Amino acid sequence: MATTTADTIRFVEAAAATIAENSTYLTRLDAAIGDADHGANMERGFRAVLEKLPGVAEKTPADVLKLVGMTLVARVGGAGGPLYGTAFMQAGMAVQGKGTLDPADVVAALAAALKGVVNRGKAEVGDKTMVDALTPAVAAAQAALEQGDDLATILGKAAEAARSGMESTIPLVARKGRASYLGERSAGHQDPGATSSYLLLKTLAAVAAST
Ligand code: ADP
Ligand code: MG
Repeated sequence: MATTTADTIRFVEAAAATIAENSTYLTRLDAAIGDADHGANMERGFRAVLEKLPGVAEKTPADVLKLVGMTLVARVGGAGGPLYGTAFMQAGMAVQGKGTLDPADVVAALAAALKGVVNRGKAEVGDKTMVDALTPAVAAAQAALEQGDDLATILGKAAEAARSGMESTIPLVARKGRASYLGERSAGHQDPGATSSYLLLKTLAAVAAST
């Protein structure tokens, strides 16, 4: 089944709700190895997105994704906001001009989002960042697409891979971002950005499964 603009908006609204519900959790994770603002940053950004959403209701999925990206870049300070903003903008660019998205388009958008984060932040797998959740998620989505899974299954597998990736950050020593200032003391804590990435992918999978 094709993903419409309305489906894309449903995902963004669900993502905003997920972020609001997990704001305290994300900020608590960031308190351990950062500056205790990741949940608040993300919540502020998605609240601004919700205010702007009504203006794009008649346009394409790409327009929605680009609006989210531009709003997150403009409204969220720190590293996380601009990185997520880039992710959403690149996802939008990847599906530019399409009225609806087939599963291959959605997977291409996810891959473009990851590429945007990596190009901007220069983190690799193992640096203890959101890249540790997003990279296996994109790989799982691509593998599922290739074997002909439907969209809900593809995204379910991506979310599960993101969960493992998120958990893999716990023992790591951070090499990028604020947590890297802690050196060895960053080990033993789950990365906040990897956690928000998992939560966003889990939300995307849930929305796909419910339509
Ligand atoms: P800040 O670190 O500026 O306070 P946030 O707290 O909102 O910003 O976001 C922190 C998260 O951003 C980290 O947990 C990590 O996952 C992610 N992050 C930081 N630097 C990078 C980077 N260079 N590449 C990818 N992700 C990064
Ligand atoms: Mg922070």
